[in-house]
Amino acid sequence: MASRVIPVDPFDLVIFGGTGDLARRKILPALFRRFCAGQMEEGTRIIGAARSQMDDVEYRAFVAEALLEFNSGHSGCEPGTIKRFQKTLSYVTLDARGEEGWDALAAKMHPGRVRAFYFSVGPSLFSDLAQRLHQYGMADHDARIVVEKPFGRDLATAQALNRSLAEHFDESQIYRIDHYLGKETVQNLMALRFGNMLFEPLWNSRYVDHIQITVAETVGVGGRGEYYDRAGAMRDMVQNHLMQLLCLIAMEPPAKFDPDAVRDEKLKVIRALGEVGRDDLVRGQYLADHEKPGYLEHVENPDSITESFIAMKLNVINWRWAGTPFYLRTGKRLSDRASEIAVVFKEAPHNIFTEDTGRHRNILTIRLQPNEGIDLDVTIKEPGPGGMRLVDVPLDMTFSEALGPDADDAADAYERLIMDVVRGNQTLFMRGDEVEAAWAWTDPIIASWEARGDKPIPYATGSFGPEDALALLHRSGRKWREIRA
Ligand code: NAP
Repeated sequence: MASRVIPVDPFDLVIFGGTGDLARRKILPALFRRFCAGQMEEGTRIIGAARSQMDDVEYRAFVAEALLEFNSGHSGCEPGTIKRFQKTLSYVTLDARGEEGWDALAAKMHPGRVRAFYFSVGPSLFSDLAQRLHQYGMADHDARIVVEKPFGRDLATAQALNRSLAEHFDESQIYRIDHYLGKETVQNLMALRFGNMLFEPLWNSRYVDHIQITVAETVGVGGRGEYYDRAGAMRDMVQNHLMQLLCLIAMEPPAKFDPDAVRDEKLKVIRALGEVGRDDLVRGQYLADHEKPGYLEHVENPDSITESFIAMKLNVINWRWAGTPFYLRTGKRLSDRASEIAVVFKEAPHNIFTEDTGRHRNILTIRLQPNEGIDLDVTIKEPGPGGMRLVDVPLDMTFSEALGPDADDAADAYERLIMDVVRGNQTLFMRGDEVEAAWAWTDPIIASWEARGDKPIPYATGSFGPEDALALLHRSGRKWREIRA
């Protein structure tokens, strides 16, 4: 089933930090793929900007190298496309905090067309960039800015950042990116919930026992140690990615599929989150194994008490979810790289099958990675003679199997999100008040463990975090799902 590609009118896209890691690994390959797919009309301009001295020719060579390195597995581009793509590229040397280069950038803008500015630089430069864009006349109504995470490190810094961006840009021009929201399955979650009759009537505490959200990584903090040690798993993952996933699961159906209608409903979920008690939270830090260094060897502070793993139980305190806990866990150096949301339904109220001794529950699993897809565990009779024994089997919808190989090739999150910026669709981007509400919930939790001086529990590389994380569920007779990549 070939996906339909609708070309977008020519646009100007400036990547501040166009020589950085994110630009090389994600943004430029994403743009290239959309170019290969035929979505960019002739005349579109992609302009890299950073302090490094480079001319257009050097930047084109730099980008070609990045594409060879980070786009090698992608088969959708014809030979020679890189050369055509290179013609869209140019480069401006500038400093976000200086004056050099800004006139040259302004001169490259085409009046009257969409212009997007991707802030792929450290967050300390976001306000400077917004201010310079205004100063050099590029912050008019055709402009949109894309802001990367981290969006603040607490409520006060997020508010300050929102205020400084709002001095020059309207909220409708600000795209706060969370690439989890660009994933095919995450959007499918909305299609599944709001496009089918089957699930929504059961989507509440009467039928749902609990929900598990897991985002597991096998990598350690690696070269990001300096940033990560100031953030930790709560700020780096829970406040944004896991929170967004939780919102999509827990939100009420919006009246329409419109950016503000969807974001209003997500905001209500964040505001309904209950406090997280000390016993409902487990923090961990990975140890070295015989091959790889431990967390403390990756960061400068040998006594760091920053967590590389967090698991928690939380409640959404409203009519729909009262009594249905949400369990969240995320961490580094775990046994598998796998992310999923599992909606675990309650058992049938009465078992009429006397021979069956098992406990059966329907589980709807939304797999974000690997093998994006959705499956539903249903209970059936175990095949063959020997009585009426029951067994749980998955009704599996792996997108690449159900929709053909093209589904596997579907635009990755960055491709979709960048094109949404160009199209002016903010549905999959976080609004300023959402981000602030998420920090308002996160801040007191962090403040309370800091006040107590709580230390993270060491856990083995290749495990699924500290044992205490298991107890979070065990004490109510539940258990984490086994997750395998
Ligand atoms: P990076 O590799 O350190 O790149 C930073 C970029 O900013 C470079 O192109 C650098 O080039 C440029 N830059 C630095 N100071 C500048 C200045 N004063 N004026 C103009 N340009 C300047 O960082 P990154 O990993 O790409 O991350 C960029 C942003 O994305 C950060 O906010 C990060 O938190 C976020 N992010 C990154 C990832 C990731 O996977 N890398 C994932 C999620 C979010 P010059 O030195 O030549 O100026």
